[in-house]
Amino acid sequence: MQSSIGPAVMIVGAGPVGLITALVLAQQGIASRVIEAAPGLTIDLRAGTFHPPTLEMLDGIGIATEMLALGIAVRYWQSRDLQEGLVAEWDLDLLRKDTPYPYRLHLEQHRLTPILLQHVLSTGLVDVVFGHRFEALHNQGDQLEVSAQGPQGLVTWKTQWLIGADGGRSQVRKSADIKFAGYTWPERYSVLSTTFDFATLGYRENAYMSDPVQWSALFKMPDEGPPGLWRMTLPVDPETSEDEALAGPYAQHAIRRITGADDSITYPLVHQSIYSVHQRVAVRFRQGQVLLAGDAAHVNNPLGGFGLNSGIHDAISLGHALARVVKGKEGEEALDRYNRQRQQANVTYVQELSVRNKKNLEEKDPVLRAQRMQELRTVCADPIKARDYLLNSSMINSIRRAESVA
Ligand SMILES: Cc1cc2nc3c(=O)[nH]c(=O)nc-3n(C[C@H](O)[C@H](O)[C@H](O)COP(=O)(O)OP(=O)(O)OC[C@H]3O[C@@H](n4cnc5c(N)ncnc54)[C@H](O)[C@@H]3O)c2cc1C
Repeated sequence: MQSSIGPAVMIVGAGPVGLITALVLAQQGIASRVIEAAPGLTIDLRAGTFHPPTLEMLDGIGIATEMLALGIAVRYWQSRDLQEGLVAEWDLDLLRKDTPYPYRLHLEQHRLTPILLQHVLSTGLVDVVFGHRFEALHNQGDQLEVSAQGPQGLVTWKTQWLIGADGGRSQVRKSADIKFAGYTWPERYSVLSTTFDFATLGYRENAYMSDPVQWSALFKMPDEGPPGLWRMTLPVDPETSEDEALAGPYAQHAIRRITGADDSITYPLVHQSIYSVHQRVAVRFRQGQVLLAGDAAHVNNPLGGFGLNSGIHDAISLGHALARVVKGKEGEEALDRYNRQRQQANVTYVQELSVRNKKNLEEKDPVLRAQRMQELRTVCADPIKARDYLLNSSMINSIRRAESVA
């Protein structure tokens, strides 16, 4: 077993949240070590929407320009109904006085992480150790001892602060014995992507379609460059096996339900995956010298695209708070404030709104569904009400709410 003293801050997980936290700390002169279980950055079909306040924050750490060069800026998004078609078309430019980024940016999460890694390494203050899976932590006086399994066996490091940015199944959270309160939905979600161009049917680059059986969310993603791909998320009921949901006919049927095409049409499929969905929030984001951020601290269904965005909001807030504490500019109350602000923003905004979005999309009662459509049409037609609606859906209100927590 190798053992050594590490930097004052250790971060578990080189996902977007871990890397952004390390970058913010390094920009304030604080060194850290990031350990990542995988042999390199992970690539999968995950987050892909960045909301205006997130872009503002990423601009603040020097990342936004590179993202904008790769991503698709989406000014309009649509609320649709599978039977009725277009219900409302939202114009994010109504937020132009609220943010310098009045649009959503679509960019695959796995295309953001290489940009982050390069910025993190160029600071010269961050040691990123791939292929090391965090296992356990032990309190040793005022230090923490962290152990990880690496290719050469067990490695231990001593550190002052440990940040769990190791995703929804966070081993850091479990080691610190922090409860992950909430529930798991019975249905799973399927994510698939196709080269079929939904714009030919009048779709904007982002659309949410309500339907009592097959609601869906559609995103145009940049992929490796034009023409890009269309990604669809839809529910898979608990009775359908994973094999069936991942088989071609299931996806073909799902796409045909949207396009209205008959069985003779087959769409080109590029990716398909299926995953379980949870609504859970850690009861504390700070326990002594252990801090949680991103999916390690909270998970939610993807309707609204809040998961990674709120994780990035955590990372920026935590990076600044911890830098002040390590530099002795503020006491540890800065970390308690991080805990209060980010925990409340998640519980009162991300959880509530993502659950409401899901319920609205899958509403089975035809009367309630019709009422909901009418409401959306009315709000969208009035620029003042539409702006209010967009302040919420774009997470601007989430940030304002978090900042108002003392
Ligand atoms: C299908 C899907 C679609 C989504 N769509 C959206 C969307 O449109 N918008 C949005 O905002 N969010 C979306 N999300 C959520 C988003 O992907 C997550 O919120 C985001 O990945 C969280 O980032 P993170 O850095 O906290 O965790 P992760 O990205 O999960 O990174 C955690 C890292 O920690 C590593 N790790 C785990 N355990 C250990 C260990 N013991 N030791 C060392 N390393 C470890 C992992 O290998 C991983 O690299 C989606 C999620 C899924 C699954």
